[in-house]
Amino acid sequence: MRLFLVEDDELLSSGLQVALRQAQYTVEHVGTSEAALSALAHNDFDMMVLDLGLPGIDGIAVLKALRAAGNPIPVLILSARDATRDRIAGLDLGADDYLIKPFELDELLARLRVLARRRNGHQVNQLTLGALAMDMGSLSVRWRGEPVELQRLEFMLLKQMAEHPQRVFNRAQLEESLYGWGEGSESNTIDVYVHHLRRKLGPEAIKTVRGVGYRIGDLAA
Ligand code: CA
Repeated sequence: MRLFLVEDDELLSSGLQVALRQAQYTVEHVGTSEAALSALAHNDFDMMVLDLGLPGIDGIAVLKALRAAGNPIPVLILSARDATRDRIAGLDLGADDYLIKPFELDELLARLRVLARRRNGHQVNQLTLGALAMDMGSLSVRWRGEPVELQRLEFMLLKQMAEHPQRVFNRAQLEESLYGWGEGSESNTIDVYVHHLRRKLGPEAIKTVRGVGYRIGDLAA
């Protein structure tokens, strides 16, 4: 897994490089936006950890340029606690996750594992299951031929279940699929989203498996 680290803080970036290499990542590191854009133009990375507060051009500009060029690389942004506006801008521009400094190394590693799994899931862009058609690129859904408006978290939850139609998921597994999408961990979160999905797609769309959790329902056309 080739990871691109863009971070100007020398102490932090050298610590991260050691830890990431120990976790079996191949790490490429630069400390400015200019160097990042140049490296991205000439290299293929599997994922990127991007500090937003960089000297000169900030990290947001890197993300913007990247997405404008159609580069789908998963990006986790690092930002200061008081930089909420930057964080939101980052997510709107297509960042996949964020961490607020200071953060625990273990949390960064856990989130990178989620990004890697999601990246593997993104290789297939269309998913069709009975009357359900999902487009992973545009996050759009058609149900019985009609477009259905889903919130991003509803989409991610539905995708997780639709990709494994035989599998019964417990709540913790479903929560993990939403992890990194800015969702809190209230214990009823999953039930709330399932409720929304049933309201939009019909009660049969998601089956409750008593004592275990949920699986995708019978979506016959
Ligand atoms: Ca910085």
